[in-house]
Amino acid sequence: MINVGVTGGIGSGKTTVCKIFEQLDIPVYYADKEAKRLMNHDIELKSKIKILLGDEAYHRNGRLNRKFVASIVFSDKEKLEKLNELVHPAVRKDAKHWSQNQNSKYTLQEAALFVENGSYKQLDYLIVVTAPIEERIKRVVKRDNSNFDEVKRRIDNQLPEIEKTKVADFIIDNSGNTSLIHQVWKIHRELIKM
Ligand code: ATP
Repeated sequence: MINVGVTGGIGSGKTTVCKIFEQLDIPVYYADKEAKRLMNHDIELKSKIKILLGDEAYHRNGRLNRKFVASIVFSDKEKLEKLNELVHPAVRKDAKHWSQNQNSKYTLQEAALFVENGSYKQLDYLIVVTAPIEERIKRVVKRDNSNFDEVKRRIDNQLPEIEKTKVADFIIDNSGNTSLIHQVWKIHRELIKM
């Protein structure tokens, strides 16, 4: 199975692009959403998180205590790194298992941090979705009812888009000037030939 990653900065249009691939019957694994599921339900991962952050990391009903976890990792970079070192391999394993059970020419995995965490090296191809920062901020402010400064701050904390495009096999321009559907179709044609 060919595994293709889709990444890009906040509001670049990763999910929008993946929805178009889904219309072409390509299965998509949304890594950030699955990470949340695993943190709530994967017994092995949960026990490792409890060892790292303490029993308080989980509510009595077994759900992740997001507020508590956020309060720790946002003020302790080392703990955040350690948490990521637990979550990312669990997600990779789950995605691999998921991918092996798909019946298509290739599968997609969408995540914001494939380049930052190095996971892209384990994928066969990487698609990076790009859009001008101003456009991304405008779109996220509208989508999340957020404000300009907050979104800008989150973008400034991410790896610059240019660094992601350096390791891309395919780049999708989602500035709005070029047809997204046309670009996705072109990549899809290439991928099914591989
Ligand atoms: P995040 O990193 O925050 O999860 P994302 O990269 O997955 O974001 P999307 O959610 O796909 O980005 O897009 C952000 C917002 O911009 C959405 O509301 C989406 O509908 C809108 N959007 C995406 N592409 C375009 C476009 N070409 N023109 C106008 N709006 C767009």
